[in-house]
Amino acid sequence: MGQTQVLNGTPVVSGKAYGPAVWPGERPVYDPEAMASTIAEEEREVESRRFTDAAAAVAGRLRDRASHASGAAAEVLTATAGLAEDRGWVGATTALIKKGTPAPAAAIASTEQFVEMFTKVGGLMAERVTDLKDVRDRIVAELLGVPEPGVPEPDVASVLLADDLAPADTAGLDPALIIALVTRLGGPTSHTAIIARQLGIPCVVAVSGLTDVPVGAPVLVDGTAGTIEVSPDEATAVAAVEQSRKEAEAVKSWTGPGRTSDGHEVLVVANVADGASARTATSFPVEGVGLFRTELAFLDRPDEPSVEEQTALYKEVLDAFDGQKVVIRTLDAGSDKPLKFVTKLDEPNPSLGVRGNRIATDNPQIREHQLDAIAAAGKASGNTPWVMAPMIATPAEAAEFAAQVRERGMIAGVMVEVPAAAILAPAILAEVDFVSIGTNDLTQYTMAADRMSPELAGLTDPWQPAALHLIHSVGQAGVAAGKSVGVCGEAAADPLLACVLVGLGVNSLSAAPAASAAVGARLSGVTLDQCRKAAEAVLATTDPVAARAAATAALAD
Ligand code: PEP
Ligand code: MG
Repeated sequence: MGQTQVLNGTPVVSGKAYGPAVWPGERPVYDPEAMASTIAEEEREVESRRFTDAAAAVAGRLRDRASHASGAAAEVLTATAGLAEDRGWVGATTALIKKGTPAPAAAIASTEQFVEMFTKVGGLMAERVTDLKDVRDRIVAELLGVPEPGVPEPDVASVLLADDLAPADTAGLDPALIIALVTRLGGPTSHTAIIARQLGIPCVVAVSGLTDVPVGAPVLVDGTAGTIEVSPDEATAVAAVEQSRKEAEAVKSWTGPGRTSDGHEVLVVANVADGASARTATSFPVEGVGLFRTELAFLDRPDEPSVEEQTALYKEVLDAFDGQKVVIRTLDAGSDKPLKFVTKLDEPNPSLGVRGNRIATDNPQIREHQLDAIAAAGKASGNTPWVMAPMIATPAEAAEFAAQVRERGMIAGVMVEVPAAAILAPAILAEVDFVSIGTNDLTQYTMAADRMSPELAGLTDPWQPAALHLIHSVGQAGVAAGKSVGVCGEAAADPLLACVLVGLGVNSLSAAPAASAAVGARLSGVTLDQCRKAAEAVLATTDPVAARAAATAALAD
């Protein structure tokens, strides 16, 4: 591989690292002929003990390493030790040995059975497959008297590449020597990802073509973009790592408030789901709540919660951000968030059905009770709530909702999630005090692509220029009306896109609190004029890749 080659995967832990590639040591190979042999009846008892002793030795070594580790590393090592002594797996293996199968072959065969079972169950169980195979290999190595497989200790800071990393491989890694993790398999919740997060080193998983990268090849890992550059230009790679280190420093030290470098105010706020998540959010550099998804607290409730219960819940969130802006959204029931006490079950197309504010047509009392509870919570906390409705499609719906909110002395807004609402943004804004753009749904409905579908992720990319054009219309209508236009979908968590949104006219960004520092730090390094130029450049593109590139170039000027 002489020329630079770029491989793509799923980004898991952001940051950049550059160094030579290393691969984990060989897994033990068990002679296929020996696999087929049979242990004499009188030796089976001893063979079975040989296996349980080997399993105990491996478990003991893992526990010993756990006692010298801490946090997630100690947890994964203890959990892997537990797998080596798992009753079901050990029982299945010894049963095979007692039928005459040699111990290594029995361990391999019983692992196959469990792997099949875990894979069928899917999800988190499927991700334990790597752990079990790792335990198998360690025990087989012990039985064969060969060195235990695992990660080498490199002489220079290196990037660890692997098919998949078992927890026992990754736990206890020295981040000064292993500066990034890249795997061909695995998902964002795999052990590799958990450990990379704990070590704070860049990590990319599910990288196709990784097997072809040889030991020693210099690689540049970009844990934000999810790319691996093999044999890049050395000076460029070193500069990229240095730039990313500086950005990470800026993120760590950013404490708010949200401003561009020339002082244009942008509110950086949090998405929350209940009192506990709101209290947690206060430890991040956010200036309030931009979206409280109230329906999430009632997903498993068979009956409508009482006004008193709702009041207590809303008050917890208002109290957590005492004296700051708190935007409470009325129930977004239906589609991906059905509520037993209100959602229609027989709709052929729930995302286009009686969802969000539309439930109030048949069940006006549910929305009235909720608004009464929000108003009561506002009075009790002394913090006036900003209240918005989801899934508004027409100015008439916005006006009807706003009247109900204002009647109770609160600040009225609506979400812009339906293209119709974005197209008529001036008329919608004339009816309310503020709007907040739900980019998750606005993109889904603009692109006619289900936001839950992994196959359609390219279409529901928040950088789709068509959706950004709609955001531009809303942003400009907000500027003209002198009213706040926020974004509270996932788009607001992307620091680069955040700059573009501000350039489009958005003045409040609400996302998971963990995203706030990166967004705030990025904004603090650009002027409003640069944001506007980036927005203009993005609006001239026709696909998300070109849009990102245009924004990056405009902001670098
Ligand atoms: C959105 O659609 O972007 C949004 C914030 O609402 P939700 O994700 O809860 O549908
Ligand atoms: Mg939505």
